[in-house]
Amino acid sequence: MSITTEIPTRELEARLSPGALVMDRDVIDSYAYDKALFCPAGQALGLVRARTVDDVVAVMVFAAEHRIPVVTQGARTGLSGAANAIDGGLLLNVAAMDEIVAIDPVNQTCRVQPGVINQDLKTALAEHGLSYPPDPGSVAISTIGGNVATNAGGMCCVKYGVTKDYVRAMTVVLADGTVTKLGRQTAKGVAGLDLAALFVGSEGTLGTIVEVTLALKPALTQPITAVGIFPDTASAGRTVTEYMGSGANPSMLEFIDGPSVAMINAYGDFGLPDNVGALLLVQSDVKGAGAMEELEAFRRVAESNGGTEVFVSDDPADSEMLVAARRAVAPAMEKYAHTRGGGELVDDVCVPRSALGEFFERLAIIDARFDVEVATAGHAGDGNMHPSVVFDAGDEVQVGQAQEAFAAIMQLGLDLGGTITGEHGVGFLKREWLGRELDAGARLMHTQIKDALDPLGILNPGKMLG
Ligand SMILES: Cc1cc2nc3c(=O)[nH]c(=O)nc-3n(C[C@H](O)[C@H](O)[C@H](O)COP(=O)(O)OP(=O)(O)OC[C@H]3O[C@@H](n4cnc5c(N)ncnc54)[C@H](O)[C@@H]3O)c2cc1C
Repeated sequence: MSITTEIPTRELEARLSPGALVMDRDVIDSYAYDKALFCPAGQALGLVRARTVDDVVAVMVFAAEHRIPVVTQGARTGLSGAANAIDGGLLLNVAAMDEIVAIDPVNQTCRVQPGVINQDLKTALAEHGLSYPPDPGSVAISTIGGNVATNAGGMCCVKYGVTKDYVRAMTVVLADGTVTKLGRQTAKGVAGLDLAALFVGSEGTLGTIVEVTLALKPALTQPITAVGIFPDTASAGRTVTEYMGSGANPSMLEFIDGPSVAMINAYGDFGLPDNVGALLLVQSDVKGAGAMEELEAFRRVAESNGGTEVFVSDDPADSEMLVAARRAVAPAMEKYAHTRGGGELVDDVCVPRSALGEFFERLAIIDARFDVEVATAGHAGDGNMHPSVVFDAGDEVQVGQAQEAFAAIMQLGLDLGGTITGEHGVGFLKREWLGRELDAGARLMHTQIKDALDPLGILNPGKMLG
Protein backbone atom coordinates (compact mmCIF):
# COMPACT_ATOMS: atom_id res chain seq x y z
CA MET A 1 0.00 0.00 0.00
CA SER A 2 1.34 3.45 -0.84
CA ILE A 3 1.70 5.69 2.19
CA THR A 4 -0.18 8.97 2.35
CA THR A 5 1.96 11.76 3.76
CA GLU A 6 -0.80 14.20 4.59
CA ILE A 7 -4.53 14.02 5.18
CA PRO A 8 -7.31 16.50 4.43
CA THR A 9 -7.61 17.39 8.10
CA ARG A 10 -10.62 19.68 7.82
CA GLU A 11 -12.60 17.04 5.96
CA LEU A 12 -11.98 14.47 8.71
CA GLU A 13 -12.49 16.97 11.54
CA ALA A 14 -15.89 17.94 10.16
CA ARG A 15 -17.08 14.34 10.41
CA LEU A 16 -15.99 13.85 14.05
CA SER A 17 -17.12 14.95 17.52
CA PRO A 18 -15.64 18.37 18.34
CA GLY A 19 -12.06 18.03 19.55
CA ALA A 20 -11.77 14.34 18.67
CA LEU A 21 -9.09 14.88 16.02
CA VAL A 22 -5.68 15.73 17.43
CA MET A 23 -3.03 16.98 15.01
CA ASP A 24 -0.48 18.21 17.57
CA ARG A 25 2.71 16.30 16.72
CA ASP A 26 3.86 15.90 20.35
CA VAL A 27 0.49 14.51 21.44
CA ILE A 28 0.30 12.15 18.44
CA ASP A 29 3.79 10.86 19.17
CA SER A 30 2.95 10.34 22.84
CA TYR A 31 0.31 7.82 21.67
CA ALA A 32 2.69 6.00 19.31
CA TYR A 33 3.75 3.11 21.56
CA ASP A 34 2.30 0.41 23.75
CA LYS A 35 4.35 -1.11 26.59
CA ALA A 36 6.38 -3.54 24.48
CA LEU A 37 10.09 -2.87 24.30
CA PHE A 38 12.01 -3.21 21.02
CA CYS A 39 8.97 -2.78 18.79
CA PRO A 40 9.28 0.13 16.36
CA ALA A 41 6.53 2.73 15.94
CA GLY A 42 5.93 4.73 12.80
CA GLN A 43 4.90 8.36 12.49
CA ALA A 44 1.12 8.62 12.51
CA LEU A 45 -0.59 11.39 10.55
CA GLY A 46 -3.17 12.07 13.22
CA LEU A 47 -4.84 10.83 16.39
CA VAL A 48 -8.58 10.44 16.79
CA ARG A 49 -9.84 10.17 20.36
CA ALA A 50 -13.22 8.70 19.52
CA ARG A 51 -16.15 9.56 21.78
CA THR A 52 -18.95 7.80 19.87
CA VAL A 53 -19.61 4.93 17.50
CA ASP A 54 -20.20 7.57 14.83
CA ASP A 55 -16.63 8.80 15.33
CA VAL A 56 -15.33 5.28 14.73
CA VAL A 57 -17.51 4.90 11.64
CA ALA A 58 -16.30 8.26 10.32
CA VAL A 59 -12.67 7.23 10.76
CA MET A 60 -13.20 3.94 8.94
CA VAL A 61 -15.07 5.53 6.03
CA PHE A 62 -12.47 8.29 5.75
CA ALA A 63 -9.59 5.79 5.97
CA ALA A 64 -11.14 3.59 3.29
CA GLU A 65 -11.69 6.59 1.00
CA HIS A 66 -8.10 7.74 1.38
CA ARG A 67 -6.47 4.29 1.82
CA ILE A 68 -5.05 5.27 5.20
CA PRO A 69 -4.04 2.60 7.77
CA VAL A 70 -5.94 2.63 11.08
CA VAL A 71 -4.47 1.44 14.37
CA THR A 72 -7.14 0.98 17.03
CA GLN A 73 -5.91 1.58 20.57
CA GLY A 74 -7.27 1.03 24.05
CA ALA A 75 -5.00 1.90 26.98
CA ARG A 76 -1.78 0.90 25.12
CA THR A 77 -0.69 -1.53 27.85
CA GLY A 78 -0.08 -4.26 25.26
CA LEU A 79 3.21 -6.14 25.34
CA SER A 80 3.60 -7.00 21.65
CA GLY A 81 3.70 -3.64 19.84
CA ALA A 82 0.21 -4.34 18.44
CA ALA A 83 -1.05 -0.85 19.24
CA ASN A 84 2.03 0.96 17.92
CA ALA A 85 1.64 3.68 15.31
CA ILE A 86 2.21 2.98 11.63
CA ASP A 87 3.81 5.44 9.21
CA GLY A 88 1.14 7.46 7.44
CA GLY A 89 -1.68 5.95 9.52
CA LEU A 90 -4.36 7.21 11.88
CA LEU A 91 -4.39 6.29 15.54
CA LEU A 92 -7.96 5.50 16.58
CA ASN A 93 -8.00 5.59 20.36
CA VAL A 94 -11.27 4.41 21.92
CA ALA A 95 -10.26 4.73 25.59
CA ALA A 96 -12.70 7.63 26.08
CA MET A 97 -15.65 5.42 25.10
CA ASP A 98 -15.81 4.18 28.68
CA GLU A 99 -19.44 3.83 29.68
CA ILE A 100 -20.82 0.77 31.45
CA VAL A 101 -24.03 0.69 29.43
CA ALA A 102 -26.01 -1.88 31.44
CA ILE A 103 -25.61 -4.44 34.23
CA ASP A 104 -28.19 -7.22 34.16
CA PRO A 105 -28.18 -9.24 37.43
CA VAL A 106 -30.90 -11.65 36.25
CA ASN A 107 -29.13 -12.72 33.09
CA GLN A 108 -25.71 -12.17 34.72
CA THR A 109 -24.42 -10.08 31.84
CA CYS A 110 -23.22 -6.55 31.30
CA ARG A 111 -22.85 -4.34 28.23
CA VAL A 112 -19.84 -2.08 28.14
CA GLN A 113 -18.12 0.32 25.80
CA PRO A 114 -14.56 -0.70 24.83
CA GLY A 115 -12.72 1.90 26.90
CA VAL A 116 -14.01 0.69 30.29
CA ILE A 117 -11.05 -0.20 32.53
CA ASN A 118 -11.23 -3.82 33.70
CA GLN A 119 -10.91 -2.93 37.42
CA ASP A 120 -13.60 -0.22 37.13
CA LEU A 121 -15.97 -2.84 35.77
CA LYS A 122 -15.11 -5.22 38.62
CA THR A 123 -15.78 -2.46 41.15
CA ALA A 124 -19.14 -1.58 39.58
CA LEU A 125 -20.20 -5.24 39.42
CA ALA A 126 -19.33 -5.85 43.08
CA GLU A 127 -22.19 -3.51 44.07
CA HIS A 128 -24.56 -5.97 42.34
CA GLY A 129 -22.98 -9.08 43.89
CA LEU A 130 -21.46 -9.99 40.52
CA SER A 131 -17.96 -10.48 39.18
CA TYR A 132 -16.06 -10.49 35.89
CA PRO A 133 -13.14 -12.83 36.63
CA PRO A 134 -10.48 -12.23 33.90
CA ASP A 135 -7.68 -10.40 35.71
CA PRO A 136 -4.63 -9.54 33.61
CA GLY A 137 -1.71 -8.08 35.58
CA SER A 138 -2.76 -4.80 33.94
CA VAL A 139 -6.26 -5.07 35.44
CA ALA A 140 -6.10 -1.52 36.84
CA ILE A 141 -4.96 0.10 33.59
CA SER A 142 -6.13 -1.94 30.57
CA THR A 143 -9.47 -1.65 28.76
CA ILE A 144 -12.12 -4.28 28.14
CA GLY A 145 -11.85 -3.60 24.38
CA GLY A 146 -8.10 -4.24 24.53
CA ASN A 147 -8.66 -7.31 26.71
CA VAL A 148 -11.12 -8.71 24.16
CA ALA A 149 -8.89 -7.82 21.18
CA THR A 150 -5.98 -9.69 22.83
CA ASN A 151 -8.03 -12.39 24.57
CA ALA A 152 -6.33 -11.38 27.81
CA GLY A 153 -5.64 -13.91 30.54
CA GLY A 154 -4.45 -13.49 34.10
CA MET A 155 -4.08 -15.24 37.42
CA CYS A 156 -7.60 -16.52 37.97
CA CYS A 157 -7.80 -18.14 34.54
CA VAL A 158 -6.65 -21.53 35.82
CA LYS A 159 -10.12 -21.89 37.35
CA TYR A 160 -12.25 -19.22 35.68
CA GLY A 161 -10.98 -19.16 32.09
CA VAL A 162 -9.79 -16.31 29.86
CA THR A 163 -11.56 -13.35 28.26
CA LYS A 164 -13.03 -15.38 25.40
CA ASP A 165 -14.97 -17.49 27.90
CA TYR A 166 -16.94 -14.37 28.91
CA VAL A 167 -17.64 -12.71 25.54
CA ARG A 168 -21.27 -13.23 24.51
CA ALA A 169 -21.74 -10.55 21.88
CA MET A 170 -20.17 -7.43 20.49
CA THR A 171 -20.78 -4.54 18.14
CA VAL A 172 -17.96 -3.91 15.68
CA VAL A 173 -17.22 -1.32 13.04
CA LEU A 174 -15.80 -2.97 9.95
CA ALA A 175 -13.15 -1.62 7.60
CA ASP A 176 -15.72 0.06 5.33
CA GLY A 177 -17.61 1.66 8.23
CA THR A 178 -20.36 -0.96 8.45
CA VAL A 179 -21.65 -1.37 12.02
CA THR A 180 -22.64 -4.93 12.85
CA LYS A 181 -23.65 -6.99 15.87
CA LEU A 182 -21.96 -10.38 16.38
CA GLY A 183 -22.79 -13.17 18.82
CA ARG A 184 -25.86 -13.02 21.02
CA GLN A 185 -27.08 -11.93 24.44
CA THR A 186 -28.30 -15.37 25.50
CA ALA A 187 -26.42 -18.02 27.48
CA LYS A 188 -26.71 -20.41 24.53
CA GLY A 189 -26.93 -19.91 20.78
CA VAL A 190 -25.54 -21.74 17.77
CA ALA A 191 -27.11 -19.95 14.83
CA GLY A 192 -24.39 -19.42 12.26
CA LEU A 193 -20.64 -19.14 12.57
CA ASP A 194 -19.23 -17.80 15.84
CA LEU A 195 -18.13 -14.47 14.41
CA ALA A 196 -17.82 -12.82 17.82
CA ALA A 197 -15.17 -15.42 18.68
CA LEU A 198 -13.33 -14.52 15.47
CA PHE A 199 -12.86 -10.98 16.76
CA VAL A 200 -11.59 -12.13 20.16
CA GLY A 201 -7.79 -11.91 19.92
CA SER A 202 -7.90 -10.26 16.47
CA GLU A 203 -5.63 -7.40 17.63
CA GLY A 204 -7.40 -4.66 15.69
CA THR A 205 -6.79 -6.40 12.34
CA LEU A 206 -10.44 -7.15 11.49
CA GLY A 207 -12.43 -4.19 12.83
CA THR A 208 -12.95 -1.98 15.87
CA ILE A 209 -14.98 -3.28 18.80
CA VAL A 210 -17.34 -0.55 20.03
CA GLU A 211 -19.47 -2.50 22.52
CA VAL A 212 -19.18 -5.86 24.28
CA THR A 213 -21.68 -8.03 26.15
CA LEU A 214 -19.90 -10.04 28.83
CA ALA A 215 -21.14 -13.02 30.81
CA LEU A 216 -20.66 -12.64 34.56
CA LYS A 217 -20.32 -14.82 37.65
CA PRO A 218 -21.74 -14.36 41.13
CA ALA A 219 -19.23 -12.57 43.40
CA LEU A 220 -16.26 -14.84 44.06
CA THR A 221 -15.45 -16.15 47.55
CA GLN A 222 -12.45 -14.70 49.41
CA PRO A 223 -9.61 -17.20 48.78
CA ILE A 224 -6.97 -18.57 51.14
CA THR A 225 -3.37 -18.87 50.01
CA ALA A 226 -0.39 -21.23 50.26
CA VAL A 227 3.24 -20.54 49.36
CA GLY A 228 5.42 -23.50 48.39
CA ILE A 229 9.19 -23.10 48.41
CA PHE A 230 11.31 -25.24 46.09
CA PRO A 231 15.04 -25.79 45.67
CA ASP A 232 14.81 -25.46 41.89
CA THR A 233 12.38 -24.68 39.08
CA ALA A 234 12.01 -28.25 37.81
CA SER A 235 10.69 -29.54 41.17
CA ALA A 236 8.14 -26.71 41.19
CA GLY A 237 7.17 -27.63 37.61
CA ARG A 238 6.68 -31.28 38.51
CA THR A 239 4.56 -30.23 41.48
CA VAL A 240 2.24 -28.26 39.20
CA THR A 241 1.88 -31.21 36.85
CA GLU A 242 1.09 -33.69 39.64
CA TYR A 243 -1.16 -31.35 41.62
CA MET A 244 -3.30 -30.40 38.63
CA GLY A 245 -3.33 -34.06 37.52
CA SER A 246 -4.81 -35.01 40.90
CA GLY A 247 -8.04 -33.20 40.01
CA ALA A 248 -7.26 -30.08 42.03
CA ASN A 249 -9.11 -26.94 41.00
CA PRO A 250 -7.20 -24.00 42.55
CA SER A 251 -8.37 -20.46 41.87
CA MET A 252 -4.75 -19.40 41.35
CA LEU A 253 -1.49 -21.30 40.76
CA GLU A 254 1.39 -18.97 40.03
CA PHE A 255 5.12 -19.57 39.62
CA ILE A 256 8.03 -17.24 40.46
CA ASP A 257 11.64 -18.36 40.00
CA GLY A 258 14.51 -17.52 42.35
CA PRO A 259 15.97 -14.59 40.37
CA SER A 260 12.50 -13.02 40.11
CA VAL A 261 11.95 -13.47 43.87
CA ALA A 262 15.26 -11.67 44.49
CA MET A 263 14.13 -8.81 42.20
CA ILE A 264 10.80 -8.54 44.07
CA ASN A 265 12.60 -8.46 47.43
CA ALA A 266 14.88 -5.70 46.15
CA TYR A 267 11.80 -3.79 44.94
CA GLY A 268 9.72 -3.93 48.13
CA ASP A 269 8.91 -5.94 51.26
CA PHE A 270 6.18 -8.43 50.42
CA GLY A 271 7.29 -10.98 53.01
CA LEU A 272 8.84 -13.38 50.49
CA PRO A 273 11.81 -15.51 51.63
CA ASP A 274 15.30 -14.96 50.18
CA ASN A 275 17.50 -17.50 48.43
CA VAL A 276 14.85 -19.79 47.01
CA GLY A 277 15.03 -21.83 43.81
CA ALA A 278 11.37 -21.15 43.01
CA LEU A 279 8.01 -20.36 44.61
CA LEU A 280 4.49 -21.51 43.86
CA LEU A 281 1.57 -19.36 45.05
CA VAL A 282 -1.66 -21.31 45.29
CA GLN A 283 -5.13 -20.10 46.19
CA SER A 284 -8.37 -21.91 46.84
CA ASP A 285 -11.73 -20.16 46.95
CA VAL A 286 -13.78 -23.25 47.75
CA LYS A 287 -16.36 -22.43 50.44
CA GLY A 288 -15.85 -23.76 53.98
CA ALA A 289 -13.32 -26.42 54.97
CA GLY A 290 -12.79 -27.48 51.35
CA ALA A 291 -10.34 -24.62 50.75
CA MET A 292 -7.95 -25.75 53.47
CA GLU A 293 -8.24 -29.35 52.24
CA GLU A 294 -7.31 -28.24 48.70
CA LEU A 295 -4.21 -26.44 49.99
CA GLU A 296 -3.22 -29.33 52.30
CA ALA A 297 -3.35 -31.56 49.20
CA PHE A 298 -0.98 -29.08 47.54
CA ARG A 299 1.35 -29.35 50.55
CA ARG A 300 1.52 -33.14 50.21
CA VAL A 301 2.28 -32.99 46.47
CA ALA A 302 4.86 -30.23 46.94
CA GLU A 303 6.70 -32.12 49.70
CA SER A 304 6.76 -35.34 47.70
CA ASN A 305 8.34 -33.42 44.78
CA GLY A 306 11.14 -31.83 46.79
CA GLY A 307 9.35 -28.74 48.13
CA THR A 308 11.21 -27.63 51.26
CA GLU A 309 8.46 -25.64 52.97
CA VAL A 310 4.79 -24.85 52.44
CA PHE A 311 3.07 -22.06 54.36
CA VAL A 312 -0.73 -21.87 54.39
CA SER A 313 -2.60 -18.81 55.63
CA ASP A 314 -6.30 -18.07 55.93
CA ASP A 315 -5.64 -14.40 56.70
CA PRO A 316 -7.00 -12.29 53.80
CA ALA A 317 -4.21 -9.77 54.42
CA ASP A 318 -1.61 -12.46 53.65
CA SER A 319 -3.46 -13.39 50.46
CA GLU A 320 -3.52 -9.78 49.32
CA MET A 321 0.17 -9.32 50.10
CA LEU A 322 1.14 -12.44 48.13
CA VAL A 323 -0.94 -11.43 45.12
CA ALA A 324 0.68 -7.99 45.33
CA ALA A 325 4.09 -9.71 45.34
CA ARG A 326 3.17 -11.61 42.18
CA ARG A 327 1.92 -8.42 40.52
CA ALA A 328 5.20 -6.72 41.52
CA VAL A 329 7.17 -9.00 39.19
CA ALA A 330 6.76 -6.63 36.21
CA PRO A 331 7.91 -3.39 37.90
CA ALA A 332 10.58 -5.21 39.93
CA MET A 333 12.02 -6.73 36.78
CA GLU A 334 11.88 -3.40 34.97
CA LYS A 335 13.78 -1.78 37.85
CA TYR A 336 16.36 -4.58 37.81
CA ALA A 337 16.74 -4.38 34.02
CA HIS A 338 17.55 -0.68 34.36
CA THR A 339 20.59 -1.60 36.45
CA ARG A 340 21.74 -3.95 33.66
CA GLY A 341 21.44 -1.65 30.67
CA GLY A 342 17.65 -1.49 30.36
CA GLY A 343 16.99 -4.38 27.97
CA GLU A 344 14.01 -6.61 28.79
CA LEU A 345 12.17 -8.93 26.43
CA VAL A 346 9.13 -10.49 28.09
CA ASP A 347 8.19 -13.83 26.57
CA ASP A 348 4.79 -15.48 26.90
CA VAL A 349 4.95 -19.11 25.85
CA CYS A 350 2.28 -21.56 26.97
CA VAL A 351 2.99 -25.29 27.18
CA PRO A 352 0.83 -28.18 28.29
CA ARG A 353 1.16 -28.18 32.09
CA SER A 354 2.21 -31.83 31.87
CA ALA A 355 5.40 -30.54 30.20
CA LEU A 356 6.34 -27.92 32.80
CA GLY A 357 9.12 -30.00 34.41
CA GLU A 358 10.83 -30.48 31.03
CA PHE A 359 10.15 -26.84 30.14
CA PHE A 360 12.14 -25.62 33.14
CA GLU A 361 14.98 -28.10 32.55
CA ARG A 362 15.37 -26.94 28.94
CA LEU A 363 14.89 -23.26 29.85
CA ALA A 364 17.90 -23.57 32.21
CA ILE A 365 19.97 -24.82 29.24
CA ILE A 366 18.88 -21.79 27.15
CA ASP A 367 19.75 -19.49 30.06
CA ALA A 368 23.25 -21.02 30.26
CA ARG A 369 23.79 -20.94 26.48
CA PHE A 370 23.38 -17.17 26.04
CA ASP A 371 25.20 -14.28 27.68
CA VAL A 372 22.00 -12.76 29.12
CA GLU A 373 19.90 -13.32 32.23
CA VAL A 374 16.57 -15.13 32.08
CA ALA A 375 14.10 -14.68 34.96
CA THR A 376 10.70 -16.35 34.89
CA ALA A 377 7.29 -15.93 36.44
CA GLY A 378 3.99 -17.16 35.09
CA HIS A 379 0.57 -18.65 35.33
CA ALA A 380 1.81 -22.16 36.14
CA GLY A 381 -1.59 -23.79 36.42
CA ASP A 382 -2.19 -22.96 32.75
CA GLY A 383 1.40 -23.74 31.69
CA ASN A 384 1.68 -20.06 30.63
CA MET A 385 5.21 -18.84 31.39
CA HIS A 386 6.78 -15.40 31.08
CA PRO A 387 10.55 -15.89 30.87
CA SER A 388 12.05 -12.39 30.67
CA VAL A 389 15.37 -11.93 28.95
CA VAL A 390 17.33 -9.16 30.70
CA PHE A 391 20.30 -7.61 28.89
CA ASP A 392 22.30 -4.48 28.15
CA ALA A 393 20.33 -2.69 25.44
CA GLY A 394 23.36 -0.56 24.59
CA ASP A 395 25.56 -3.55 23.80
CA GLU A 396 25.04 -4.92 20.28
CA VAL A 397 26.38 -8.34 21.18
CA GLN A 398 24.01 -8.62 24.14
CA VAL A 399 21.07 -7.44 22.03
CA GLY A 400 21.82 -10.21 19.52
CA GLN A 401 22.15 -12.78 22.30
CA ALA A 402 18.88 -11.60 23.84
CA GLN A 403 17.02 -11.95 20.55
CA GLU A 404 18.42 -15.44 20.06
CA ALA A 405 17.46 -16.46 23.60
CA PHE A 406 13.97 -15.01 23.08
CA ALA A 407 13.59 -17.02 19.86
CA ALA A 408 14.94 -20.18 21.53
CA ILE A 409 12.26 -19.84 24.23
CA MET A 410 9.49 -19.59 21.62
CA GLN A 411 10.94 -22.62 19.82
CA LEU A 412 10.97 -24.50 23.14
CA GLY A 413 7.30 -23.66 23.58
CA LEU A 414 6.51 -25.06 20.12
CA ASP A 415 8.73 -28.14 20.65
CA LEU A 416 6.76 -29.03 23.77
CA GLY A 417 3.43 -28.85 21.95
CA GLY A 418 2.65 -25.31 23.10
CA THR A 419 2.24 -21.86 21.62
CA ILE A 420 4.43 -18.78 21.10
CA THR A 421 1.93 -16.63 23.01
CA GLY A 422 -0.52 -17.61 25.72
CA GLU A 423 -2.02 -14.17 26.31
CA HIS A 424 0.10 -11.18 25.22
CA GLY A 425 -0.63 -11.65 21.51
CA VAL A 426 1.45 -11.63 18.36
CA GLY A 427 1.46 -7.94 17.42
CA PHE A 428 4.70 -6.80 15.89
CA LEU A 429 6.95 -8.69 18.28
CA LYS A 430 6.07 -12.22 17.22
CA ARG A 431 4.59 -11.76 13.76
CA GLU A 432 7.39 -13.73 12.12
CA TRP A 433 6.75 -16.61 14.48
CA LEU A 434 3.03 -16.93 13.84
CA GLY A 435 3.72 -18.61 10.50
CA ARG A 436 5.86 -21.22 12.25
CA GLU A 437 3.10 -22.12 14.66
CA LEU A 438 0.30 -22.34 12.10
CA ASP A 439 0.16 -25.08 9.48
CA ALA A 440 -0.38 -24.27 5.79
CA GLY A 441 -4.16 -24.60 5.98
CA ALA A 442 -4.46 -22.31 8.99
CA ARG A 443 -2.12 -19.75 7.39
CA LEU A 444 -4.28 -19.69 4.26
CA MET A 445 -7.47 -19.26 6.31
CA HIS A 446 -5.90 -16.35 8.19
CA THR A 447 -5.02 -14.64 4.91
CA GLN A 448 -8.42 -15.26 3.36
CA ILE A 449 -10.33 -14.02 6.40
CA LYS A 450 -8.16 -10.90 6.58
CA ASP A 451 -8.65 -10.23 2.84
CA ALA A 452 -12.41 -10.73 3.13
CA LEU A 453 -12.86 -8.35 6.07
CA ASP A 454 -10.15 -5.86 5.21
CA PRO A 455 -9.77 -5.94 1.41
CA LEU A 456 -7.82 -2.67 1.35
CA GLY A 457 -5.43 -3.89 4.06
CA ILE A 458 -5.89 -0.76 6.18
CA LEU A 459 -6.58 -2.34 9.59
CA ASN A 460 -3.42 -2.48 11.70
CA PRO A 461 -1.29 -3.62 8.74
CA GLY A 462 1.98 -5.33 9.55
CA LYS A 463 0.73 -6.54 12.94
CA MET A 464 -0.02 -10.16 13.75
CA LEU A 465 -0.44 -11.28 10.13
CA GLY A 466 2.82 -9.67 8.97
C1 LIG B 1 2.22 -4.62 33.90
C2 LIG B 1 1.47 -5.39 32.83
C3 LIG B 1 0.94 -6.62 33.13
C4 LIG B 1 0.24 -7.33 32.15
N1 LIG B 1 -0.31 -8.54 32.49
C5 LIG B 1 -1.03 -9.21 31.58
C6 LIG B 1 -1.65 -10.45 31.93
O1 LIG B 1 -1.52 -10.94 33.05
N2 LIG B 1 -2.38 -11.07 30.99
C7 LIG B 1 -2.55 -10.55 29.74
O2 LIG B 1 -3.26 -11.15 28.93
N3 LIG B 1 -1.97 -9.39 29.38
C8 LIG B 1 -1.23 -8.71 30.26
N4 LIG B 1 -0.64 -7.52 29.91
C9 LIG B 1 -0.76 -7.04 28.52
C10 LIG B 1 -1.92 -6.04 28.24
O3 LIG B 1 -2.28 -5.34 29.40
C11 LIG B 1 -3.12 -6.76 27.64
O4 LIG B 1 -2.77 -7.24 26.36
C12 LIG B 1 -4.37 -5.90 27.53
O5 LIG B 1 -5.46 -6.72 27.13
C13 LIG B 1 -4.25 -4.75 26.53
O6 LIG B 1 -5.34 -3.85 26.73
P1 LIG B 1 -5.22 -2.33 26.28
O7 LIG B 1 -6.49 -1.65 26.57
O8 LIG B 1 -4.02 -1.71 26.85
O9 LIG B 1 -5.04 -2.52 24.70
P2 LIG B 1 -3.96 -1.89 23.70
O10 LIG B 1 -2.58 -2.19 24.17
O11 LIG B 1 -4.28 -0.46 23.45
O12 LIG B 1 -4.26 -2.72 22.39
C14 LIG B 1 -3.93 -4.08 22.32
C15 LIG B 1 -4.42 -4.65 20.97
O13 LIG B 1 -5.84 -4.62 20.93
C16 LIG B 1 -6.30 -3.83 19.85
N5 LIG B 1 -7.48 -3.12 20.34
C17 LIG B 1 -7.57 -2.36 21.47
N6 LIG B 1 -8.83 -1.92 21.62
C18 LIG B 1 -9.55 -2.41 20.56
C19 LIG B 1 -10.89 -2.31 20.16
N7 LIG B 1 -11.78 -1.60 20.85
N8 LIG B 1 -11.27 -2.92 19.01
C20 LIG B 1 -10.39 -3.64 18.28
N9 LIG B 1 -9.09 -3.78 18.63
C21 LIG B 1 -8.67 -3.17 19.76
C22 LIG B 1 -5.14 -2.95 19.45
O14 LIG B 1 -5.19 -2.62 18.07
C23 LIG B 1 -3.97 -3.86 19.75
O15 LIG B 1 -3.79 -4.75 18.68
C24 LIG B 1 0.08 -6.79 30.85
C25 LIG B 1 0.63 -5.54 30.56
C26 LIG B 1 1.32 -4.84 31.52
C27 LIG B 1 1.87 -3.48 31.18
